[in-house]
Formats: sequence, structure tokens, C-alpha cells
Amino acid sequence: MQTAYFDYAATTPVDPVVAEKMIQYLMPDGCFANPASRAHMPGWFAEQAVEEARLKIAKALNCDARELVWTSGATESNNLALKGVAETRRQRGRHIITSAIEHKAVLDTCGWLETQGYDVTYLKPDQKGVITAEQVADAITDQTILASFMMVNNELGSINDIAAIGDVLKARDIVFHVDAAQAGGKLPIDLKALPVDLMSFSGHKVYGPKGIGTLYVRRDPDLKVAAQIHGGGHERGMRSGTLPTHQIVGMAEAFTLATQRMEQDKQHISVLREQLWLGISSLPDVTINGDADGYPGIINLCFSGVDGEALLMAIKDIAVSTGSACNSASVDPSYVLSGIGLPREKALSSLRFSLGRFTTESEVEQAIDIVVKAVTALRGQ
Ligand SMILES: *Cc1c(COP(=O)(O)O)cnc(C)c1O
Repeated sequence: MQTAYFDYAATTPVDPVVAEKMIQYLMPDGCFANPASRAHMPGWFAEQAVEEARLKIAKALNCDARELVWTSGATESNNLALKGVAETRRQRGRHIITSAIEHKAVLDTCGWLETQGYDVTYLKPDQKGVITAEQVADAITDQTILASFMMVNNELGSINDIAAIGDVLKARDIVFHVDAAQAGGKLPIDLKALPVDLMSFSGHKVYGPKGIGTLYVRRDPDLKVAAQIHGGGHERGMRSGTLPTHQIVGMAEAFTLATQRMEQDKQHISVLREQLWLGISSLPDVTINGDADGYPGIINLCFSGVDGEALLMAIKDIAVSTGSACNSASVDPSYVLSGIGLPREKALSSLRFSLGRFTTESEVEQAIDIVVKAVTALRGQ
């Protein structure tokens, strides 16, 4: 049996339309030149392709193309945003606000900033995995320079009210960074309307290639972000390195496609999620962790009384994830599930299913069948 893929939140396959486009920017007969080569035509064509791609993503997000900086992915975008702003605003204050259930690319960066003399407040979300604007307002001090919250949580699918949080921060002149790796191309994002200063995106979460991302950096008012990678001064000095034309063109194609198909993809995913939940909830004692009304492509389920690792072994024919971390001696539950107050035992009995554009009804049937049998057997019923 082929493995049924239910791990779209970890990564997505590249849409064939995107791959076709990328191939044109790789080989000797293609547009392969260095986009920074100013001395010849092939270089100009490559530069043109990069700038057209930037415009496409800017159009999808309703921002100015000059506000987008190419990076290697959302991990790098998060690093650049947080370290870059912490550095330029160091004289103003040293306090940063984030949440306990951010992606590790934010949490570990904040942890490193703590070693550099910054203070970080890690807000505790509610049971759904949501941070409120009131919590953020209460955490602000006269030292606060920066806040970072994700739009869609990658383990729970819960959605933060970015506009409400942004309003609070804007009123206090605090820079607001949003990790939108799970939201880009999936939820409507209007950067002209949103009170956000920096936003991170990734190509491979939305049917584009891995190894490419972008950081939105607001120009009005002009935000200063200190470079974290130094070199040829590419990307207006914010991020050096030869631009990967094929990846950039691929990400732009993927974002354009996702924007055009947003309703269609959401509808498809919602129907299959409902089918999956209906089938699996025929089992007793299964509950949804986090927000049942969040982004439909992510559903995190707790199978009470069943060991998550044992369940994972029993359902090898479907690809899902636990979010737990294995150490040499023991298994630690997902910090996100612990972060929303789930007891250790429940967190260790949980699995994340994530669905996407290429998920089929028969894959969902296969998953229901395998999960129901495995849980029943493990519970000894
Ligand atoms: C995947 C993900 C990242 C990391 O993105 P990469 O492009 O793989 O570096 C960051 N934040 C969230 C919320 C993610 O889901």
C-alpha cells in the first residue's frame, strides 16, 4: 500500500505547474545566469525574472515589491526579522514579547537574544492556542521594542487576530513581526490594511520549492532591519547571497496559484477534513486539540489512553506527525500541546493530521480505516 500523506503542515509537494516553470531557469538553454550580473543580457533576463516574481508575490499580498526580501525560508525570515530589529532598536529598549507556542525558529531566536541581554516575555495562549490583544497590551513595558506572533499555528491550525494585536502594538510604536509560514496563500492577507511591520513566508508550505522564502519589511514608515548575512550587498543590503532564480520563480508561481485557488483549495480541504473527523470520531474518547474552527487543513487529535508513539508505529501507512521530541532517555510531549495546557499524558496520545490540495477522498478513507483499527487494537477493545 502507498503511504497516504497527511503531513502538509510539515511540507507540501511542488505543484506540477510550479515545477514546469522552475525547469526553465536551470539548464544551459534556460534563464540560468546570475541575476546580479549586470554586464550581459543573460544576467539582465535573470534579474527581470526575479523582479517579476517579486511583483507577483507583492500582488498576492497587496504590498510594494520593494518591501519583499528573498531569504532561504521562513526560518531565515524569522531570524532576520527578530535579530535585525533587536539590533537596530537596541538603544530604545531590550524587551520582546512573543508566545510559548511559536515555531522553534522564533523561540530559539528569542532564546539566543536572551543570551545577548534582551528580556523576552512568552505569553501563554488559551486552550485553543490563541493569544489575545488584551494579553499583549498587558505585557507591554516602556522597554518593549518588538513583538512576534504567528498567524496560523502549525500544530493546531489556530488563528490569531493579527489585526487586533497589531492595533495595540502600533499605538505604542512597537515593531510587530508575524510568522505567516502556514498562512501565506491559504488565508487572505492584505498588507496594506494589516497593522504589521514584518511578515515571514515560506515557499514549501504552499506547493512551492523548499529553500526559498521571503520577509516582508514595511517601507512606510521605513523600517530598519540589520543584515544577518553579509556579502555582496544584495536585497538592498539586508540579505546577501546570489539569488536562486529557479526557487524565486517557483515560489512566485506557487503563491499566484494558491491565491487564485484559495477558495477552491479551502473548500476541498474542508470537505475532506469533515470526512476524516466524521470517520475517526466514530471511535470513543477522541477529541480535537486546539481550535476546531481554525485553519481546516490542520486537525490535531487526542486518542485518550493510547500511546502516541505506539499508534504511530501501528499506522505506518499514513504519514502524520506527533510534534513530540525524542531524547535519549524519554519522549517529551509537544511543547505546543503542553503550551495550551494539555496534560502530558493527553499530549503524548495526540497526532496531527494535515491535509492539502492533493489529498483525496480515498486517502481519507484509508486513514480512517487504519486509525480506527489501530486505536481499537491498542485499547484492547
Ligand atoms: C515551516 C514553518 C517555519 C519554517 O519554515 P522554513 O521555510 O521551513 O524554514 C516557520 N514557521 C512556521 C509556522 C512553519 O510552519
